Amino acid sequence: MKELISVVVPVYNEERGIFEFLEKNLLPVVKSINGYRKEIVLVDDGSSDNTLKVLQKCARDNKMVKVIALSRNFGKEAALSAGIFYAKGDAVITIDADGQQPPKLIPEFIKKWEEGAEIVTGVRKHYTKHGLVQKLGSKLFYKLLRLMGNKTTVAGSTDYRLIDRMVVDEFNKLSEHNRITRGLIDWLGFNQEYIYYIYGKRMAGKPSYSFKKLFNLAIDSFISMSTTPLVIFGYIGVVITIFSFVLGMFIIIQQHILGDPMGLKWNGAVQLSVFVTFLVGLVLISQAITALYISHIHAESQGRPLFIINKRKSRNLNEKNNK
Ligand code: UDP
Ligand code: MG
Repeated sequence: MKELISVVVPVYNEERGIFEFLEKNLLPVVKSINGYRKEIVLVDDGSSDNTLKVLQKCARDNKMVKVIALSRNFGKEAALSAGIFYAKGDAVITIDADGQQPPKLIPEFIKKWEEGAEIVTGVRKHYTKHGLVQKLGSKLFYKLLRLMGNKTTVAGSTDYRLIDRMVVDEFNKLSEHNRITRGLIDWLGFNQEYIYYIYGKRMAGKPSYSFKKLFNLAIDSFISMSTTPLVIFGYIGVVITIFSFVLGMFIIIQQHILGDPMGLKWNGAVQLSVFVTFLVGLVLISQAITALYISHIHAESQGRPLFIINKRKSRNLNEKNNK
């Protein structure tokens, strides 16, 4: 039997553009793919407008279209995970419903997959279509992400992706709740290829990711991907402690033992503040240590697997899907 390609689309309150997106953009492209069976998994993320009706009608008219209706709005990351979970494809492609990620590139994703890539990631080429704040924000986001130890995410990576079945199976095993799909998939490893594309304009409606939501998403991804923010404060504490310790020693020797030969006459207030600074340093250090314990607990509670195996490259593992 021919291999199956799944296209997963999270949809939330897109009634104004979704019909056109499906009928004019997505369906023609997917139908034109030859050599594979195809399915389109539309995930309605608890839309409060007529989006679901449009999706249901689309499913009535096209056999390849499936609709998953979530019981309420769970957010894009959860909607994506739901779609990926229900997709049966040997390759699963995720794409936004607003036309910003051009469906006509889907054949290119498939081509890279056929050539051996296990993950194909769409990377946005430039940011001209976005406001200055978003542009800077997104640059800063990836800079920080990198700084904080996530070396696997390429700047400008989007959720326009193709994921091989093997990777999908591993992804589905992850159980953490605060999830950034991109970060998680990158964390899994595997052969990754990139497709650079121009992030288009929204076909209709407004982006539902407000600045505040994006900000929270960024914070979430830092916290869920790394412990560096906590450790940085520990280092600051170390610097403060050393500095005030040296200064304190200087005061004791210069003023109290040698009898102030330099004539500084530092009074009690100065001495006290040096001492307090020293204590602040100690507090910062001990906080960072506590934070490290918490981060270990956090890592355990995420329950991520210790390692991920590439079944296709391994040999004689006695597993069924060992090709
Ligand atoms: N989306 C969703 N649930 C939400 C918010 C958004 O499923 O709570 C969908 C939305 O319909 C779109 C995609 O996620 O298909 C990206 O959303 P949006 O265009 O608002 O974000 P951006 O383009 O800024 O990434
Ligand atoms: Mg969008």
